[in-house]
Amino acid sequence: MEVIELLLVTPLMPSVMNELEHSYRVHRLYEADDRPRFLDEVGNNIRAIATDGHAGASAQIMDALPNLEIISCLGVGVDAIDLPHAAAQNVIVTNTPDVLNDDVANLAVGLLLAASRGIVAGDRFVRDREWLEGNMPLMRSIRSKPVGILGLGRIGKDIAHKLEIFGCDILYHGRKEQPEQPYRYYADLVAMAKDSDYLIVICPANDETRNIVDRQVMDALGPEGTLINIARGSVVDEAELVAALRDGRLGGAALDVFADEPRVPEVLFTMDNVILQPHIGSATVETRQAMGDLVIRNLALHFSGQPVATPVVAG
Ligand code: NAP
Repeated sequence: MEVIELLLVTPLMPSVMNELEHSYRVHRLYEADDRPRFLDEVGNNIRAIATDGHAGASAQIMDALPNLEIISCLGVGVDAIDLPHAAAQNVIVTNTPDVLNDDVANLAVGLLLAASRGIVAGDRFVRDREWLEGNMPLMRSIRSKPVGILGLGRIGKDIAHKLEIFGCDILYHGRKEQPEQPYRYYADLVAMAKDSDYLIVICPANDETRNIVDRQVMDALGPEGTLINIARGSVVDEAELVAALRDGRLGGAALDVFADEPRVPEVLFTMDNVILQPHIGSATVETRQAMGDLVIRNLALHFSGQPVATPVVAG
């Protein structure tokens, strides 16, 4: 039987790599010292790419693989894959939606609670022995508070359901209203930010959403407002975010994602009203395994002549 050759762009979890090694001849791009030469040597034989949402797959890589049929991506965000280029070459792209909703939404809710109750600041307060000098200032309840969700998609809806239990008032913005949803729709993001105490960003990163959370949105959220970004760094204008926090025009931020990961603007390290996370939205053993299983399943379906389970659909 023909062994299918696969390009692994970046290391994935050991269990997923083992499965891939079992079924394919795996070429590890990330181990090559001279990548163009490596691709030159193996490119003709490769029919599949396995990658993740961070490493993606560039047009340059695709151009080096004339027999490429499928890119199987671990992660739901496919902004690091050149989708128009893949479409032009008739390459199927798959991602791992839904299986990560629960854990990503949990992180969003965790960040909202951490920001409103000062959980991270409280930890520092105890460790720094400030408690010995007196109590921490009172923080804020989230019951009845307006929470704006930018992107009421698969993950956004999960966040909204979870926040209903906390008694939050849910608002949302997207390109179109979803009349079947019980939440208040805003066609205008600035208007929603103005009416929100917390703004949770969970829309895809693309040309349309680049810096969609700009100075105007942050000023509308205001000095009492908190921005929570668990989407992608590019969706928020990071320079404006730093300026708004520094000038006190924005109350606080809880960030899982950044413009140039893993580099984070150092000035944020000094701000007590900021919570920083190393892009861990889906990073649990259970969810990453489910994502890995889907990466493998999509490849197996394609190479057994069946439609893939979770194709990326443009738009
Ligand atoms: P989804 O189901 O496709 O939902 C995306 C939502 O964003 C939709 O409700 C869509 O509504 C809205 N949207 C799309 N384009 C928009 C625009 N130009 N302006 C305003 N709203 C827009 O996606 P998902 O599965 O929930 O995932 C969302 C994103 O979360 C992913 O793309 C990924 O980047 C990010 N993510 C991050 C992590 C992490 O580790 N931090 C983990 C998983 C996912 P309309 O169609 O009405 O505009």
